[in-house]
Amino acid sequence: MLVEAGHTVPAGATDGLSTFVYYRGRVALYGLLRGLGIGRGDEVATQAFTCVAVPEGILASGATPVWVDIERDGFDIDADDLARRLTPATKAVVVQHTFGIPAALDPILEVARGHNIPVIEDCCHALASRSNGVPVGTFGVGAFYSFEWGKPIVAGVGGAAVVNDAALRDRVKADYGRFREPPAARVLRTQVQYAAFCALFRPSLYWQVRTAFHILSVLGAAEGNYNPLGAQAAPDFGWRMGAPLQRRLTRQLPTLDRRSDHSRRMAAIYRSGVTSPAFRHPVPPEGSDPVYARYPLLTDRKAEVLAAARKARVELADWYSTPIHPLEPEEWRSVGYEPGSCPNAESVAGRVVSLPTHLNTRPGDAERAAAFLNRFSA
Ligand SMILES: *Cc1c(COP(=O)(O)O)cnc(C)c1O
Repeated sequence: MLVEAGHTVPAGATDGLSTFVYYRGRVALYGLLRGLGIGRGDEVATQAFTCVAVPEGILASGATPVWVDIERDGFDIDADDLARRLTPATKAVVVQHTFGIPAALDPILEVARGHNIPVIEDCCHALASRSNGVPVGTFGVGAFYSFEWGKPIVAGVGGAAVVNDAALRDRVKADYGRFREPPAARVLRTQVQYAAFCALFRPSLYWQVRTAFHILSVLGAAEGNYNPLGAQAAPDFGWRMGAPLQRRLTRQLPTLDRRSDHSRRMAAIYRSGVTSPAFRHPVPPEGSDPVYARYPLLTDRKAEVLAAARKARVELADWYSTPIHPLEPEEWRSVGYEPGSCPNAESVAGRVVSLPTHLNTRPGDAERAAAFLNRFSA
């Protein structure tokens, strides 16, 4: 796992280390897929109820995503559905630990082993979660991480891959030389954005910051979350993590324990404090110890609850609001997603809201959010 293995993030890939840093999490996924020799004609299985960054990474490699449904009223991949969707062309499966909730790894690993396909863990929400006492990110051949807005550690725009398999590490390392420093203008823009994030990111300003960020990224003045999907992969896929971000990340990683403790405290407030039957609490798999990136709830009154939260200035996120966030139904086929093919993912996207666990959430904010939600009846 990223921190425990004692890798402070290396400046590039150094001998003996298995952490490789990239421009974004999706580029780290791409680096892992390339290391596995995956490309045109291959398929990569991945769950619906994700963000478009994941298919971006898969498509950049030349492979096509195979969409797998999540568990009913859950957030992570369903092992039985995975078994049904695999084909002889499927060369890897991405297992996402959504919101920090570990996927049900035993049955998933069994299916993957049975088909002899490697598992890549998407740990973008899960830096410190454990499954049967073992950190997530260590179960597959490799894992990838993201350090942008909304992730457990925010360092700007950046990602990392951690490789657990020696042969794969050699191949990822050999390929790493093709990734260049990002252009100075992009690094500068990220730095400015990071400063703004630090100054403004707190529950009481959530809705204003969200709107401002959306407007700025539409105008191209901010580094948006998503690239246009086209025949040509975005230039991001040629870049590693910029040097200033690597330095910041190295400083931030030691704060992970403090962040995780805080997340646990906030989650405990939500778990006991949200008592309205209008909300369904998450049910992590047995033996798992989630550190929530955000605390998700399911409700049949999603739109109404979000509108009221905005008015009351309660931080409440809507993602993922579609099975491949933020794509609208008419765009789903552009990433190979057939509408209706993952009913659980579509249903959960229509019902999920999530509460903050980050360090700027004070216990009072969490209690206020719980009291706010309790005003809704089933
Ligand atoms: C954020 C995120 C990514 C991609 O991260 P980027 O750094 O934006 O490329 C991938 N998967 C999940 C689940 C994420 O939340």
